[in-house]
Amino acid sequence: MTSSIYDKDLDKNAANYVPLSPVTFLKRAATVYPNKIAVVHGDRRITYRDLHAMVTRFASALVKRGIRKGDTVSILAPNIPEMLAAHYAVPLIGAVLNSINTRLDAPTIAFILEHGESKFVISDKELNPVMEEALAQLGKTLPVIDIDDPMAKGGKLIGEKDFDAFLEEGDADYEWSLPEDEWQAICLNYTSGTTGNPKGVVYHHRGAYLNAMGNAVSFGLTPTSVYLWTLPMFHCNGWSYTWAVTAVGGTHVCLRAVDPALIFPSIRDNKVTHMCGAPIVLTMLIHAPADVKCEFPQVVEVATGGAAPPSAVISNMEKLGFHVTHLYGMTECYGPSAICAWQDEWNDLSMEDKASKVARQGVALVTLEEQRVVDSETMEDVPADGETIGELVMRGNTVMRGYLKNPAASDAAFKGGWLHTGDLAVMHPDSYIEVKDRSKDIIISGGENISSLEIEEVLYKHPDIMEAAVVAAPHEKWGETPSAYVTLKAESEGKVSAEDVIAYCRSHMAHYKAPTKVTFGPLPKTSTGKIQKFVLRDLEKTGE
Ligand code: ADP
Repeated sequence: MTSSIYDKDLDKNAANYVPLSPVTFLKRAATVYPNKIAVVHGDRRITYRDLHAMVTRFASALVKRGIRKGDTVSILAPNIPEMLAAHYAVPLIGAVLNSINTRLDAPTIAFILEHGESKFVISDKELNPVMEEALAQLGKTLPVIDIDDPMAKGGKLIGEKDFDAFLEEGDADYEWSLPEDEWQAICLNYTSGTTGNPKGVVYHHRGAYLNAMGNAVSFGLTPTSVYLWTLPMFHCNGWSYTWAVTAVGGTHVCLRAVDPALIFPSIRDNKVTHMCGAPIVLTMLIHAPADVKCEFPQVVEVATGGAAPPSAVISNMEKLGFHVTHLYGMTECYGPSAICAWQDEWNDLSMEDKASKVARQGVALVTLEEQRVVDSETMEDVPADGETIGELVMRGNTVMRGYLKNPAASDAAFKGGWLHTGDLAVMHPDSYIEVKDRSKDIIISGGENISSLEIEEVLYKHPDIMEAAVVAAPHEKWGETPSAYVTLKAESEGKVSAEDVIAYCRSHMAHYKAPTKVTFGPLPKTSTGKIQKFVLRDLEKTGE
């Protein structure tokens, strides 16, 4: 190998190689904006100086309890200041933060604590009943610290002491150090198990840093941003916004529960500028009672993803004073990996046409290297014609290290060197992708692929429908047929028949795509608010 004239000089500057880690965002924010409000929680206000001090003691207290590099620290908490602080204190000492989904049941939490080999548990008072049950099932004792949040509703104390008393164990002058290696594990996030047993997705410091940066830039965060925590922090570390908001020195506004009666006044009173949420959260806001929907003068930027937002949801949010950005992602890629980046020429489109552009999942975030739509066997790109369906694959800086203690699943996920999403998509001529379905959700009727999302898109435009999900039902002649599950708006209940819904779909789409069955009622949801299509599919197969 020939050496370059540049090589011999490189080592002299090696001191300027600093491992990327998102914990550095807090150090900087505390230096640049010490007196600025970093966190709002009810009447509580925490400045960046105080958040830094809290994290310093927290990290030191963990070290004094014997927590070391590579140890897993689990936390079960809603969107509260202690949860945010854990995103800095745990990685700061080289330990790995395991944020547990607050809607899980005790056996699943016990599975996570066991599989992730957790060494230390921090748990919110309100969630302690389920944590207590999980710990009892675990069959070994772990140190537990309670977060006794005055805003918790009920619950109990199960730990050895309260979080504030635990902080007292730490030193105020504990010295921060960076991870030795930016590829070091930073977080362990379990998938919600929509597609089977939860898998432990391992993130590294570098990916977390870069995804936070990519999100901060793409979502237009600035030091004046006020970010409302409508997205759970446990979900992919709040899609990296736990770090992104701090990176710009913005303000985090905590929220214990996703309730429109809390969200609207918080937007008004805290002058919120940004928030994120799954489409289901947007649907809740749209259908909130009129007396809950208070007015606010600012346009609120809302990023939505986690499931496809129907265009009707996007346009209805715009009418309420929100501007919607569509993100796509999965636990395996630190939350958002794609964004439907806005194009100026869309400005002149009608609200509906704009909404259908934004309903596409879009292009790779600036910090992800690349996404493609391929034939998953040959790994060749499908034509960018907006019609040919292939699998969405991606690779780059913000893709997980792999699944913890699950080499078979990791190998399958990275077949051919690309992360396989299991999502079926098309590539449009403008290089924007559009997800058509999860591979197991696609309906194959008479040999034709029917996208359940395409039918849902039509159903959401029906004036009486609040929520809808379409799955395959076995069919004697066609193999499969689309079956729609629908929740009507409260005021429309009893007024619409299955035949009406089928007729509406047939008049808005190719007849072979229209559902042939419609069932009314509430829809089963996962712990992250996604509709559980597998439950509906089982219902179709077994009738129960
Ligand atoms: P789980 O896989 O456990 O349900 P994830 O949050 O990792 O939890 O889910 C990722 C999946 O969610 C993606 O593979 C995709 O199917 C779906 N998804 C996420 N964002 C979007 C989006 N904007 N449009 C369509 N589907 C989405």
